[in-house]
Amino acid sequence: MQSIDISYIIPAVMHQKLPKEIDPLRLAQNGLVLEGRLPLSEMKRLTEALHGNEGMVDVKMSFALDEVGAPFMRGEFNVTISLMCERCFEPMSVDLVVSSLLAIVRNEKQIEGLAEQYEPWLLDSDNPVWLAKVIEDELILALPIIPRHDSDCLPEDAWSVGDEGQDDSETEKQASPFAVLSTLRSKP
Ligand SMILES: [Zn+2]
Repeated sequence: MQSIDISYIIPAVMHQKLPKEIDPLRLAQNGLVLEGRLPLSEMKRLTEALHGNEGMVDVKMSFALDEVGAPFMRGEFNVTISLMCERCFEPMSVDLVVSSLLAIVRNEKQIEGLAEQYEPWLLDSDNPVWLAKVIEDELILALPIIPRHDSDCLPEDAWSVGDEGQDDSETEKQASPFAVLSTLRSKP
């Protein structure tokens, strides 16, 4: 039998608007990709932790079945957020780049049998799945625990006052034995 060229077949990609509500299992069975942008302002729980709610999240979610037929989602989420630096209390921009690999499961029992690389995504059969909420959860998990500027954002004299006092006493303690030595040595 002759082989057929399937290289021209590209998976269906929903480029335009992201749906508000999704059925992850159906998306995985159909091997669909969701791609688009969501405003941060739609994620209230996340923006409460931020300095502002402006910005757009770049979203790419690929749904598929793996080689044992388990449904999964590979997600890539990029957004620039504004956080308060905990050292200088000035706003700072942080690029969040989040990669997720979630196995779509319907009950706790399925979690036990998951391949190692997956985090479980447990569906609640009673409630619809809101796309923004799923993405929001992934972004919240990726927030830095203590946001701080990479550079020394405060002038040195503003935050080394306490340290200086300590340094002085330590220098004195260390200096004294040598001082004694030098007096011994200088004796005739
Ligand atoms: Zn700072």
